[in-house]
Amino acid sequence: MKKLLIVIPCYNEEEVLPSTFASISKLLQKMIDQKLISPDSRAHFVNDGSRDKTWDLLVKECKKNNLFEASKLSRNFGHQGAILAGMYDNNADLYCTIDADLQDDPNCIIEMVKKIEQGNDIIYGVRKKRDSDTFFKRFTAQAFYKLMSWLGVKVIYNHADFRMMTKRTVEQLKQFPERNLFLRAVVPLVGFKSDMVYYDRTPRMAGETKYPLKKMLAFAWNGISSFSIVPLRLVTLMGFLISFLGACFVLKILMNYNTHGVISGWASTVTLITIFSGVQMVSLGIIGEYIAKIFVEVKQRPLYIVEEKITNKKAPK
Ligand code: UDP
Ligand code: MG
Repeated sequence: MKKLLIVIPCYNEEEVLPSTFASISKLLQKMIDQKLISPDSRAHFVNDGSRDKTWDLLVKECKKNNLFEASKLSRNFGHQGAILAGMYDNNADLYCTIDADLQDDPNCIIEMVKKIEQGNDIIYGVRKKRDSDTFFKRFTAQAFYKLMSWLGVKVIYNHADFRMMTKRTVEQLKQFPERNLFLRAVVPLVGFKSDMVYYDRTPRMAGETKYPLKKMLAFAWNGISSFSIVPLRLVTLMGFLISFLGACFVLKILMNYNTHGVISGWASTVTLITIFSGVQMVSLGIIGEYIAKIFVEVKQRPLYIVEEKITNKKAPK
């Protein structure tokens, strides 16, 4: 039997935690009773620098429930950092990551374990439909997946960060040293045998999303620019195209010169200057974005810092 660790990142989640505790505890106990996982399996909550009572709640709950453990990060490192802290800083045979609001169906974890037993190393949780999302989120998500595949980045459609991985997968993941970590594109790069489980995502039980539009866009751009050099290539392509158009234009001017004499073309000059400066600005911006990435990477700053940890060695009842 394998030791399972359910890693749950929490950022200002005081409103949802009480019900999350109840469902996760019930699920873990059930799986242990059915001998699907070993009795030392745990749920590990990672407090990602919450400013509300999340940590107090976790401390209290870990004392009461010996299936629970928790880590406290020194500040807010972001969802991906919190997930990594949970996986890299703790020992288990199987790691499952799931959001604290349990919008992803935790009961799928049972199926995930079974699929691992069938010889898989990575199990992706994939949403069947997007009924519970607003039209806007559905639309932007779809555009994101389309854009990613067009840019040559392999991500699994409708899979976020609900997944299970074996110990050896997590060990290999540690070999990816990048700071701009975008797990859903990095995990497939490990390449071990994988499978999927499908579920319906429910609306958030309480509290609000920690991913407002601004963060979502930043996340999407990070995913693209960390995995694709197509935007840079487009700049080059655009350069060629515009040079070609420019050459045609010069040709036309020369021809006009012969037929109509001197050109009094102030407007065309100004128009061209405006267009070209715009294109140059965009191109410089894109190049700058990638240089900024290099800047972040060379610093090799830690992705998370664990300040405090509560572990639970006691055997469950
Ligand atoms: N989260 C985190 N750090 C952050 C933002 C979010 O650990 O800086 C956690 C959050 O507590 C939740 C998960 O990441 O468990 C996903 O966030 P949320 O449910 O708000 O995102 P959504 O489902 O709306 O995309
Ligand atoms: Mg959510």
